[in-house]
Amino acid sequence: MSPFPSYYYTFALFILLLSLPSFPARILKHDPLTELTADIQNNTWHAFVKFLDAGKGSELPGMSELKKYFQRFGYLTNIPDHNFTDFFDEDLESAVLNYQKNLGLTVTGKLDDETMNEIMLPRCGMSDSAHEHDHSSLHTTRNYAYFYGRPRWMKSSPMILSYAFSENYMIDYIDISEIKSAFKRAFSRWSSAIPVNFTEAEDYYKADIKIGFFRGDHGDGEPFDGVLGVLAHAFSPENGRFHLDAAETWAVDFDEERSRVAVDLESVATHEIGHVLGLAHSSVKDAVMYPSLSPRMKKRDLKLDDVEGVQALYGSNPNFKYTSSLEHDTSASSWRTSSKWTTFFGLVALIFSLCL
Ligand SMILES: [Zn+2]
Ligand SMILES: [Zn+2]
Repeated sequence: MSPFPSYYYTFALFILLLSLPSFPARILKHDPLTELTADIQNNTWHAFVKFLDAGKGSELPGMSELKKYFQRFGYLTNIPDHNFTDFFDEDLESAVLNYQKNLGLTVTGKLDDETMNEIMLPRCGMSDSAHEHDHSSLHTTRNYAYFYGRPRWMKSSPMILSYAFSENYMIDYIDISEIKSAFKRAFSRWSSAIPVNFTEAEDYYKADIKIGFFRGDHGDGEPFDGVLGVLAHAFSPENGRFHLDAAETWAVDFDEERSRVAVDLESVATHEIGHVLGLAHSSVKDAVMYPSLSPRMKKRDLKLDDVEGVQALYGSNPNFKYTSSLEHDTSASSWRTSSKWTTFFGLVALIFSLCL
C-alpha cells in the first residue's frame, strides 16, 4: 500500500501539468517582440507578422512595406522602391532566400516562423549585403565579412585610435561615467584581439571615432526610427561616425533598468565598434557581428568568428589568448516568463512532495 494518499498524486499531477509551458494554436519561436507589443509605439516591424507563411504568388496588403524593409537592409537593391507592389514576386523570393542565407536561417524562400521572428527583432541599421566574404581559404567555413574594398584603418603601428563622445548628443538618464565604462570595456574586447589601442579624447571633432546619440533624421541619410527597430549604426573605416538611436531605452544594468524594451548599451557598442574597424555583418548567430539583438539581451563577448574576422584585417594581438567564452552561446539576461513559471511550479511540486 502506498504511504501517500491518492489525492497527493492527483495534486502533484495537477501541479506538473500547470508547470508545462502552454502553447497557443500558433506560436512564434523566441518571440520577445510579440510579448512586447504593448510597449512599442514607433516600431512597425511587428506588423509584418501578418505575412507569416506567405510565399511566392501570395498577395497581401502592405507587402510593399516589407519590400522596403528588405531594400533598407541590402536586399532588392536593384528595384526602385516606387515600383514595389503587394505581390510576393520572384524578386521578393530571392531577397528572402538571400536574407535567410546571410542570417544563417533555414533557407526556404518563405516567410516562415524563424524568418519572421528574425525580421521583427531590433537590429543594427547597417546593410547586410554591402560586403564581401573572405575567400582566402577554401578549407574553412568563414562567416565574417567586410565592407566593399575591405577598408581598414591604415595608421602606422602601434596603432592608436582615439574616440570621443558628442557634447550635445548624449543621453542624460545614465551617468556619463557609466556610459564611458561600458564603452571602455567594449573597446578593450577588440583591442585584446588585435594590435590596436583605443584612447578616449576630449575633442569630438578631431577624434577618429565620434560617438553620439541621435534622434530621427540626423543628417547622414540614415534616419533613426524610434523605439526598437534600428538601434544604431556605424560607418566603415576610416569614417569613424558611430551613432546610437536616442529613442531607445539604453541600459548598462538590467537590474536597475526594468523596461521591457531596454537595450544593452555595451552589447550594441561592441557590435558597432566591429563596423568602425571594418567588419560587416556575420551569419553566425552567436557572433557579436550578427545584425540583430533582442531587448534585455546581452551579447558582449567576441566569438571566434568575430576574432578571426578582425585579426584577418589587423593581425593578432601578441597577448591574445583563446578563452572558452569564444565558443559559448550568448547569455540571456533573464529567463523567459514560461521558464520562470515552469521552475516555480516545479519547485512547488518538489516542496509539496518533501512535506508529505
Ligand atoms: Zn551592424
Ligand atoms: Zn547616423
